[in-house]
Amino acid sequence: MEISRREIRRYLGYGGNEGDETVNALIEDCLKELTAAAFPKSISRVYPLQLLPEDVIDFTVFQTKSRNLSKNLKDCEQVILFAATLGAGVDVLLHKYTKLQMSKAVIMQAAAAAMIEEYCDEENRLLKQEHEAKGLYLRPRFSPGYGDFPLDCQRDITSVLETPKRVGIMLTDSLLMAPSKSVTAVMGVSGKPYRCEVKGCEVCAKTDCAYRRS
Ligand code: SF4
Repeated sequence: MEISRREIRRYLGYGGNEGDETVNALIEDCLKELTAAAFPKSISRVYPLQLLPEDVIDFTVFQTKSRNLSKNLKDCEQVILFAATLGAGVDVLLHKYTKLQMSKAVIMQAAAAAMIEEYCDEENRLLKQEHEAKGLYLRPRFSPGYGDFPLDCQRDITSVLETPKRVGIMLTDSLLMAPSKSVTAVMGVSGKPYRCEVKGCEVCAKTDCAYRRS
């Protein structure tokens, strides 16, 4: 997995700066340890999708209401429910450095956040290729909590995908995921040939796109 150092520095608040030697060396250290500790897993399933009046979205296996997501899913006939995690070993590592060396714990958090994003992007690229071979096009992933997509849809996604049993992702009563470096999301599937950026609308050049998530 090729994890962007620039993205890690951005999470650390460096913006586009190169960072100093000490920080860059710590980033490399953290990535080595994370690569050894991570056990990435993902799961996805496709369901028929219906967009109902007043921004109600019917995913077949549950319903929700979201204006932002309705816009993004316009012209989609199906939806992919998706979940991914780096596994419990990464939390052990994060916990260890929170006790031992706070400066490294902060960098480890940023590196792990970049790692789960990159892992999701890789898995989504594969789904995109599989679907494009069948003449279907994916919208970028959209996670509960993004815009007005209710955070509690995490409950529906983890339950429908049976994530505790299949990939080891659990959800607490307060909607925190364990392992902490886990993601749930949905992706629209459309027959209209719109080539979305896997990394999302934020980096996509089509600024006048009708499906752009806002
Ligand atoms: S803005 Fe780009 S990534 Fe977002 S929905 Fe439109 S084409 Fe897809």
